[in-house]
Amino acid sequence: MSLAVKFDNVVKNYPNVQALKGVSFDVEEGAFFGLLGPNGAGKSTLINAMSGLVLADSGQIKVQGFDVVSDYRTTRRALGLVPQELIADPFFTIRELLELQSGYFGLKGQVQRNWIDELLQRLALSEKAGANTNELSGGMKRRVLIAMALVHKPRVIVLDEPTAGVDVDLRRTLWDFTKELHQQGHTVILTTHYLEEAEALCDKVAILNKGQVQAIDDTQALLSKHPYRYLKVKVANPEASLVGPLQKLVVDKEPSGYVFQVDKNSSMTQAMAWMEQSGLEVVDVSSRDATLEEVFLDLTSAEVSADV
Ligand code: ADP
Repeated sequence: MSLAVKFDNVVKNYPNVQALKGVSFDVEEGAFFGLLGPNGAGKSTLINAMSGLVLADSGQIKVQGFDVVSDYRTTRRALGLVPQELIADPFFTIRELLELQSGYFGLKGQVQRNWIDELLQRLALSEKAGANTNELSGGMKRRVLIAMALVHKPRVIVLDEPTAGVDVDLRRTLWDFTKELHQQGHTVILTTHYLEEAEALCDKVAILNKGQVQAIDDTQALLSKHPYRYLKVKVANPEASLVGPLQKLVVDKEPSGYVFQVDKNSSMTQAMAWMEQSGLEVVDVSSRDATLEEVFLDLTSAEVSADV
């Protein structure tokens, strides 16, 4: 399997913090890859180092086999980075911006104009193609950023928090389009705080924490390695007090019951017995595997408590 991106022992120090402490992992060609981690984990630093916006202190990053420092022009062409914010340029219309960006990559002619039209249409920007960027709403600016990142049909599309503060409609538009590009063979790398989104979209995820890779795996494998299952229990008497060991399993208390976290290796009978001892009148029980959010919290908060 060929690699879209290879991170090899990447280190980046800032005066007060070691943002990346030797990060190594691969993103395979054609993957839909999630780069996750709490605030300050180093995600943006890593993505910026890959895109040539930040220079790593040591280590190496290769995009499609080319070094991002010594072969910058080649790797820049292979990457389409959707940054978090648009620096509005009041002098250009959306179409002009896209044409300028095309020119930067030496792309012109009818085929390119057709692609710009398609981008405008798919991102619901056609009506605003002649508008200056300072006339746009926040959501439209986002879409312009996406269009700009895709204008040269990059092999590797990098989306940095693309749906932060974005409404439901735009999210759906964005994901439909991204999924389509992925199906056409583009590699997609996504950072997001929305773990539900990452779980639904990404076939593989890396969890970065404090500048280090804490976990990297196929999304489904990561979920199934999690040591707990979750029992959602609806009760007729939510005011009943729980026996000590059962209290320790509560991860959520709802008006009509509880969610308990149960060790996969222990028997359910024990939890059931504690429910009985607590006098719970159980109306309904359902059990499920962990969500990515639960796995993420478990991994990243374990690290925090180990530091205390
Ligand atoms: P994330 O994207 O995961 O939230 P960042 O990569 O933005 O994390 O930041 C990682 C760490 O590096 C944080 O502690 C942040 O404060 C620090 N950092 C990021 N950029 C700079 C910078 N330009 N100067 C100093 N410190 C920085």
